Amino acid sequence: MNTSENLPVPITEDCHIFLVLLNFTMAPGRRPPKAPAEPPADLGRLLRCCLRCRLMKTHSQFYESGCENCPFFNMVNDKDRVNDCTTSNFSGMISVLDPEGSWAAKWSSLGKFAPGCYALSVVDDLPEDIQGILQDNNINYRPPSEL
Ligand SMILES: [Zn+2]
Repeated sequence: MNTSENLPVPITEDCHIFLVLLNFTMAPGRRPPKAPAEPPADLGRLLRCCLRCRLMKTHSQFYESGCENCPFFNMVNDKDRVNDCTTSNFSGMISVLDPEGSWAAKWSSLGKFAPGCYALSVVDDLPEDIQGILQDNNINYRPPSEL
């Protein structure tokens, strides 16, 4: 069975390995509800995370493919937007394979996002003009400074 069929994102070699892992860990017959996000290409200091959903990827990956959970941020080919919408100031990491079926994902407020690697906590708030994009899309956002 080709797991990359019907997925809306291009499948890179790294992503293919991730999909194999995903299929290995999912219960038989259960398919992921959403296409997995691109796994981080680097786990070092190049790593950033989205300020809304906490998806972790490198700056280059956000620049090339944006955030799978937050396409309305339009990060593709916009370095300033990537800098505004992501941060390197985060802590912890969780890999989520089955967001809807995982208690850890639900506990981390990741239950509705794509399978992928996420930061556990983020300190920085989205800039106010970017928060306006979320309001325009009727998406609730509570800045970490208000939690
Ligand atoms: Zn995001």
